[in-house]
Amino acid sequence: MTTYDVAVIGGGLVGAAIARMLGGTSLTVALVEARDDVGDGTSKANTAILHTGFDATPGTLEARLVARGYTMLGDYAKATGIPVERTGALLVAWNDEQLATLPALRTKAERNGYLECELVSAADIYASVPDLGTGALGGMTVPGESITCTWTTNLALATDAVNRGVTLLLGHRVMAVDSTPDAVRLVCTGGDVTARWVVNAAGLGADTVDRLFGHERFTVTPRRGELFVFDKAARPLVPCIVLPVPSKVGKGVLVSPTVYGNVMLGPTAEDLDDRTATGTSPAGLDFLLDKGRALLPRLLDEEVTATYAGLRAAIDRDDYLIDVDPARRYVLVGGIRSTGLTAGMAIAEHVGSLLSGHLDVTPRDELPDPPRMPNLGEAFPRPYQDAAAIAADPEYGRVVCFCERVTMGEIRDAYTSPIPPADLNGLRRRTRAMNGRCQGFYCGAQLRDLVETLGGTGGGHE
Ligand SMILES: Cc1cc2nc3c(=O)[nH]c(=O)nc-3n(C[C@H](O)[C@H](O)[C@H](O)COP(=O)(O)OP(=O)(O)OC[C@H]3O[C@@H](n4cnc5c(N)ncnc54)[C@H](O)[C@@H]3O)c2cc1C
Repeated sequence: MTTYDVAVIGGGLVGAAIARMLGGTSLTVALVEARDDVGDGTSKANTAILHTGFDATPGTLEARLVARGYTMLGDYAKATGIPVERTGALLVAWNDEQLATLPALRTKAERNGYLECELVSAADIYASVPDLGTGALGGMTVPGESITCTWTTNLALATDAVNRGVTLLLGHRVMAVDSTPDAVRLVCTGGDVTARWVVNAAGLGADTVDRLFGHERFTVTPRRGELFVFDKAARPLVPCIVLPVPSKVGKGVLVSPTVYGNVMLGPTAEDLDDRTATGTSPAGLDFLLDKGRALLPRLLDEEVTATYAGLRAAIDRDDYLIDVDPARRYVLVGGIRSTGLTAGMAIAEHVGSLLSGHLDVTPRDELPDPPRMPNLGEAFPRPYQDAAAIAADPEYGRVVCFCERVTMGEIRDAYTSPIPPADLNGLRRRTRAMNGRCQGFYCGAQLRDLVETLGGTGGGHE
């Protein structure tokens, strides 16, 4: 059996970023994921904002890695085609107490190295977002806040890792750990994996895996965030991300455009016991509708396209928990709650520097180019609009999902890519198929057939 230099547990944004970084060295690496696809945990259901880190707690590891990750992911998005729209954000104060907080928030942003925030009047706010509900007293701009696609980001990082030689082991849930003096054997559902070092990036499962290594230091509390997605007709109402003034209990409910051309309202923040509770709740959705009515009354006249929920891996400390245990040759990457999309690449860089005293993490020469990802962003050209692409390959002119204008060429490409979808939901995340107004009412049956035919012939991993 192969003994890898490093096994990374968890194929979410963070694990994929770490595997990609390690894959760029001379080390042999396995990315070990419980599910049948990468990016199928928390990383598939967030608000997809590329945060500047203006409101992070200064001096924390999270503040440093979010700021660094913002730059790294911005650059990586250019290289790979991950869609990013530089919409900027407007933070709105709705009462005197919030208004009084704004200067301190700007100072906090500056302490975090972000110098672009400006305090603005109520008149400025309504000039920027004319449909905002009445009662805004003032605000602060955060011009760097941006929107992106979490699905493409996770897939790009994992694809890059595979292209760099990382072995992707899907369907491998780590159930037990057996340590010997030279290596660690991970007992997994899909077969055992042996490695000299292990990185735990298991998100909601990070505390469980940590206990398998003999630690008893933290517990993950799933903090559910529920969201509404409104129809594309609502997009002109929301030219930028509209944020509330953050409070001790979190970032609060925002309204934001999405890169797919929709509008998002959410998320809630509710601590649960159940780590699988990714469904929405009537109470959560009612709460959001009340918030939306006050924030942007006209939004509620628009159709709702979908609702969804994600679980943040909250822990009982106000920072990431990243720690190396040299005796066990083990790295914990825990508590990556609400900023991991932005910080993922910087977390990987940080893990690399922590490992550098123990392993040779020097980048090797002649790395493959980063993968060029299919564009899912509405602001950038898509295949159905590209006459030259259609002339060269008519499959890009055959629309299958009419709501989101997804073509047969894109569906075929998803199945011939290095990490093909495992099911219909995986196909959604790679193409946007079935994500539109009808939610698959018209194209669902055809897509299900395609998943059966193409899914049987696609590439894949052990
Ligand atoms: C509602 C919401 C909104 C958010 N908004 C933003 C935002 O706007 N911007 C931002 O930057 N961040 C945001 N986040 C945070 C971001 O989504 C997370 O920080 C990030 O997705 C965490 O990635 P991860 O890889 O740590 O976890 P995950 O994506 O959950 O990946 C962990 C993986 O480990 C696997 N795993 C678990 N246990 C095992 C095991 N025993 N064996 C093998 N594999 C295992 C899981 O199957 C999973 O695939 C938000 C989060 C939520 C919930």
